[in-house]
Amino acid sequence: MYQKWNESELHFLIKNYNLPNEELAILLNRSLESIKSKSKSLGLKKERVWAIGSVFNRLRLIDIPFSRFDNSIKRIHAIFVCKCGAIVEKRLDNVTSGKTKSCGNCQHREEGVSFYIEG
Ligand SMILES: [Zn+2]
Repeated sequence: MYQKWNESELHFLIKNYNLPNEELAILLNRSLESIKSKSKSLGLKKERVWAIGSVFNRLRLIDIPFSRFDNSIKRIHAIFVCKCGAIVEKRLDNVTSGKTKSCGNCQHREEGVSFYIEG
């Protein structure tokens, strides 16, 4: 069933068009096809910021992102494997933007060690 796009949805799509289609589909509650055809008709071109296997600092994306509610706000989360081997769930936008760089447990430890001089 075709649902007409309203003003705020179009606004959201245009403003966030650089997000992957899969994310836009979740956030706008529309099918992937609907997102694709609307983006195309609006002439929106995106630079995809992630793919399975993409590495952001110490984190590697290992599965397709999914939506989750954080304090009643819908966010996109994903599962990453950290360089230290830990498997963690993080907010995708925080990781792709560099705000979240690791699992959160190992980096501080290693940074701490680098200041320690032996002897
Ligand atoms: Zn780690």
